[in-house]
Amino acid sequence: MGHLDNQIPTAELQALDAAHHLHPFTDGDALNAKGARVITRANGVMLTDNDGVEILDAMAGLWCVNIGYGRPELARVAANQMEQLPYYNTFFQTTHPPVVELSKRLADLVPGDLNHVFYSGSGSEANDTNIRLARHYWAAKDKPTKKTIISRKNAYHGSTMGGASLGGMSAMHAVGGLPIPDITHIAQPYWYGEGGDMDRDEFGLVCAKALEEEIARLGEDNVAAFIAEPVQGAGGVIVPPATYWPEIQRICDAHEILLIADEVICGFGRTGNWFGMQTFNIRPDIITIAKGLSSGYMPIGASVVSGEVAQVINGGGDFTHGYTYSGHPVACAVALENLRILDEEKIVDTVASTTAPYLKEKWQQLADHPLVGEARVCGMMGAIELSPDKAKRAKFSKDPGKAGTICRDFCVENKLVMRAVGDAMIISPPLVISRKEIDMLINRTTASLDMTLSVLKEASLI
Ligand SMILES: *Cc1c(COP(=O)(O)O)cnc(C)c1O
Repeated sequence: MGHLDNQIPTAELQALDAAHHLHPFTDGDALNAKGARVITRANGVMLTDNDGVEILDAMAGLWCVNIGYGRPELARVAANQMEQLPYYNTFFQTTHPPVVELSKRLADLVPGDLNHVFYSGSGSEANDTNIRLARHYWAAKDKPTKKTIISRKNAYHGSTMGGASLGGMSAMHAVGGLPIPDITHIAQPYWYGEGGDMDRDEFGLVCAKALEEEIARLGEDNVAAFIAEPVQGAGGVIVPPATYWPEIQRICDAHEILLIADEVICGFGRTGNWFGMQTFNIRPDIITIAKGLSSGYMPIGASVVSGEVAQVINGGGDFTHGYTYSGHPVACAVALENLRILDEEKIVDTVASTTAPYLKEKWQQLADHPLVGEARVCGMMGAIELSPDKAKRAKFSKDPGKAGTICRDFCVENKLVMRAVGDAMIISPPLVISRKEIDMLINRTTASLDMTLSVLKEASLI
């Protein structure tokens, strides 16, 4: 055991955790009754809990550990930067080498003319920035009525007041009285769940046209922007039909509104390209990045904007907005090292050429399981829809979410972290996952599905 290993017994940690720690997105009493899992260390795609049990992390933490756990290069860069300049702000007409270098690197890496970067500490904060950027942009162009931002139902854009308002999750809106004013939501392109009798392509067009209808309803003079994830992540890895994004792009071009692509999950290799905008061939004016930017080793997010947007913002007087940790030197240095590793080790190329196609082949075979209504995948993210009657794409109407919860708990028992979104099971493993580890992931998933099926049969839920 190394010197970093925890020596406190698991039960003691769980009791202290229950006594003093409020968990995000958690039913506190329910968790405290059983105790939180204590994760002590991690390497590659594997987590190790406090009792030495190794668990395959098919979620890359929260969709963020793209280069995998345990890379000492990032630790060294962080330590060196902390010794040299642990902190300084970028408010007071100052800058520093890591933030300059990272901005240049991102300007080169992000396609098109997206070449100016505004930093934050997280994806949520970056989306708050985007609300203010988009509104300030139009105000600076003497169009101050262009304020409303159109988003989508079941979107996830973070958990701050702004981020959760942009998001389209009703359970989140219910906590804290959201959304804030001048944000509206249109239908999501979720064919499996909401496509009915339409074929995929037809449904994709209908969903995209909903944007044009919403712009007409609000009046183009009142709309600032449309925001969307290239692939909805937290909503359930919802891969839009092929017809969707071209029509959205056409509508954004035809009307005078900004397109904001939330690349917090899709960015940095997740879809098999560096950015989701390349996979879906879209040309946003602003993108949101976080998560894979540092592979989760340090908290950092950013808005990357086009030269035109930057010019308007720069010419629009004081942009009275910023965070203490905007362009944090240690976070920037770690992000740079993460990007170096992603690039030099050809991690995104390997995903595209080798491991994502392999995952796709194996994952789609899960659709043969009697419990699985659909198995979809995009690059290194995937979902399976659990169904009581797969031929009809039926939902579990009796007790929605129960099958997903049962399956998720069996996954944990089978040493696999997979997430349940309602009755869909989703994955987003580290991009460095090997073929052998993909086999392990599929085997553990299949075992968990078998166990779930037999429990559902016993409970007459299927
Ligand atoms: C996670 C996420 C966010 C929020 O990022 P945080 O760093 O948790 O604030 C925003 N958008 C998308 C698409 C996300 O998945």
